[in-house]
Amino acid sequence: MWQERSAIEWLRWLAEGRVSAVELVDAAFQAIERTDSRVRAFLHLRPEQARVEARSIDERRRRGEELGLLAGLPIAVKDVLCVRGEPTTCGSRMLAEFRPPYDATVIERLRAAGAVLVGKTNLDEFAMGSSTENSAFFPTRNPWDLSRVPGGSSGGAAACLAAGQVPLSVGTDTGGSIRQPAAFCGVVGLKPTYGRVSRYGLVAYASSLDQVGPMARTAEDVALLLSVLAGHDPRDSTSAPVAAEAYHQGLDAPLGRLRIGVIREHFESGLSPSIAGAVRQALDVLAQMGAELVEVTMPHSPYAIAAYYLVAPCEASSNLARYDGMHYGLRCDESLPAGDGNEGRQDASRLVRVYRASRSQGFGLEVKRRIMLGTFALSAGYQDRYYVKALRVRRLIRADYERAFERVDVLAGPTTPSTAFRFGEKLADPLAMYLEDLFTVGANLAGVPALSLPCGFDENGLPIGLQLQAPWFREKRLLQLAHQFQQRTDWHKRRPAL
Ligand code: GLN
Repeated sequence: MWQERSAIEWLRWLAEGRVSAVELVDAAFQAIERTDSRVRAFLHLRPEQARVEARSIDERRRRGEELGLLAGLPIAVKDVLCVRGEPTTCGSRMLAEFRPPYDATVIERLRAAGAVLVGKTNLDEFAMGSSTENSAFFPTRNPWDLSRVPGGSSGGAAACLAAGQVPLSVGTDTGGSIRQPAAFCGVVGLKPTYGRVSRYGLVAYASSLDQVGPMARTAEDVALLLSVLAGHDPRDSTSAPVAAEAYHQGLDAPLGRLRIGVIREHFESGLSPSIAGAVRQALDVLAQMGAELVEVTMPHSPYAIAAYYLVAPCEASSNLARYDGMHYGLRCDESLPAGDGNEGRQDASRLVRVYRASRSQGFGLEVKRRIMLGTFALSAGYQDRYYVKALRVRRLIRADYERAFERVDVLAGPTTPSTAFRFGEKLADPLAMYLEDLFTVGANLAGVPALSLPCGFDENGLPIGLQLQAPWFREKRLLQLAHQFQQRTDWHKRRPAL
C-alpha cells in the first residue's frame, strides 16, 4: 500500500476522506508485521498509542477542526530522540530501561503537526557507526539485500522507508548518519544546516556536529517533513534564530541557470566505478535541466575524516561522561558485604567501582573505543597536538566551502564510496568503517545542509546515492533541485522485492 503513494499523496487522500488515519496506521503495522521479522528496523512499536492518536485525528477532522501539516501520517523516529514515558535506548544497554520525562522538541512538533508515531527505529549505539552493527540489540538488514547492512547510524530509519513500512522517518546526522543509510537503502535523506532543527531532547553524541533531519522516499516528502521539524527553539542555545520556510511549497519553481560544483576530490580516491558512473549520469541529467556544471576543488577534503574522527570522539567522551551509573541508565552496584563492621561506613572506593562496572557493562566496544580516543586526544600534553589541530583543520574545511560557494550554488558528488556492504565485512577494521564517511563528514564539519537521493543501482542491484550540498540555510534550493531531478528520473520509484 505504501509503495504506491507518497506522504503528500496520502495527505490528499486523507483530506478527501478516501482513507482515514486509523486505516493508514493499520496499514503501517500490517507492513511492519509482514516484513520486520526480516528487516528488523524497529526497536519499539507503539500500536495501541498510535491507534488512539490516529482515532483522535480522524475525530478532529470529522469535527472540521484545523489540523497540522502531517495530520494522520504514520512516522518512525530514530531511537535517539526523547519521547516522554517511552523507551529511548540509543541502541545501548546503558539506556535499555530509560524512559525520558519529557519530549524532544522535534517530537513536540511532530505531535502538534498530527503525525502518528508508530515506533522507534534501530541505530548504531549512541549513533556511532555506519552499519547498525553497533546496536546493542540486533543489526537492521538492508531491504534490498538482507545479507547486507542498511548503513548507519540511522539504519532503521532508512530501512523502514525502503521496506514500505512507513512513508516518513526522522534520523540524525553527525557525520553522515542520515545520508549514508539513505544512499544504501535507496531513499532520500537531508541533513539540515547546523542549528536549523532543534537538538533539545536529542541524546548528544558530538554536539557541534549533531543535526536532526527528515527522511522519506521522495524529495517532496522530505521537504514536507522539514517544514515541521525546522525552526528556532529557545531551549537549544545552538538553534538558529532564522525563520523556517514552507519547504514543500514552490518545489517546481524554475531554478534558472544554477551553477553546480562537481567536487573533484570526491571522484579521485576509493570511489567504486559503478557509483562514479551513476553519479556522472545524474550530473548529465542536472545539466539537461539547465544547470551549469563546474569542477570545484576542496583541497582540505582529504583531511576531513581525520579531523572528524578527532572532533567527534572528543565531544563524545565529554557527552558520555554523564552515564556513570548515578544520573542515568544502567547502574551496576556491587554492594558492600554486610557485617564486617561495614555498617555506616563510607567506602570511598565504592563510587569508582559503580562507575567502572556500569560503564564496562553498559557500553559496547565501539563506544568505548571513541571514549578512549576522545579522552586521549583531550588529555594534557596531547590536546594541542590532536584536538586543537583538528579544530584548525575544521576551519580550513569550512573555508573550502566558503570559497566554493562564492563560485557555485550547489555542490554535487557521490554520497558514499561504496554501496551497501555485507554484515561483518568492515567490523574488524574500524578504519575501513570510518572511511565510509569520506564524502559526508565535510558537511557536518562546515555545518552546511546536505541531501542524498537515489541516482542508480550497481551491478548487484544495490541503490546508489547522489549527494547535493548547499550554502548555510539553503535547504530549499537542495529540495527544489532534488524534487525536479525526481520529476525526470524514476530511481526513487523502484522498490525492493521483499
Ligand atoms: N559513521 C559516523 C560515525 O560513526 C557518523 C555517525 C553519525 O552521523 N551519527 O561517527
